[in-house]
Amino acid sequence: GSVLDLRAIGKRYGATVALQDVSLTLLPGEICGLLGENGAGKSTLVKALSGVVTPDTGEMYVGGAPYRPRNVLDARAFGVATAFQELSLVPTLSVAVNLFLPQPGINRLHMIARRRVEQEAKAILGAHGIRDIPPATLVGDLSLGMRQRVEIVRALWRQPRILLLDEPTAALADRDWLFAQVAAAVGWGASVLYISHKLDEVRRLCGRCVILRNGRKVRDAAVAAMSDDD
Ligand code: ADP
Ligand code: ADP
Repeated sequence: GSVLDLRAIGKRYGATVALQDVSLTLLPGEICGLLGENGAGKSTLVKALSGVVTPDTGEMYVGGAPYRPRNVLDARAFGVATAFQELSLVPTLSVAVNLFLPQPGINRLHMIARRRVEQEAKAILGAHGIRDIPPATLVGDLSLGMRQRVEIVRALWRQPRILLLDEPTAALADRDWLFAQVAAAVGWGASVLYISHKLDEVRRLCGRCVILRNGRKVRDAAVAAMSDDD
């Protein structure tokens, strides 16, 4: 069965309809592209799935269970992790502390020795091929590309079963690094929703692609069947 099942999701901001009647399923190990012009509703859908906004209408299911996350921690507990386009890292905290922030048990972080947090962060970054970002550095002192990599590693940590990547290559110099991370996630069975406006990336990574227009799903088909004017 499907890992993720959205049924007739709707969301308004005042008079603006951001999402209307959007239904979508994700299968295990599937990489599904999500395309749409600015304002189409892509970020709102990601935020609904991440517990950042609550849909007005419709239902969500993860692994067959009703899914109503109240925040990103809640979403994490269901195995739904997100790398946000606007990056959700705290600039005044270190890379290491940022990596730990959305993990369960964060309320006890102050009890863990700073050195241990940094050692573990270093190991996790290294496991993802990142050796040029010292864990003790403040996120605010990193380049945008580095921040985006930390944001992505944070989402990958603890092998989520649903991975939401919102414009993950916006600031990245090294797209192949990201593609390798996506392949690793699929390797552990994750389903990936890949939000992008770059058709070449969607063609390269995704088997299926969903297109939103004015908050509505206007297309949901195999990428191979997509023509250039879609
Ligand atoms: P996309 O990510 O595809 O660019 P969004 O989900 O950001 O689309 O936006 C969908 C619609 O909702 C747009 O019309 C946008 O202006 C509006 N919108 C998004 N966030 C807000 C908000 N916080 N308040 C009011 N309107 C919003
Ligand atoms: P920028 O610093 O220009 O915003 P990045 O942080 O993405 O962009 O990349 C900075 C440099 O680090 C680039 O030369 C890039 O090739 C290299 N780089 C990117 N990803 C990795 C990685 N996983 N491991 C080592 N080097 C990387």
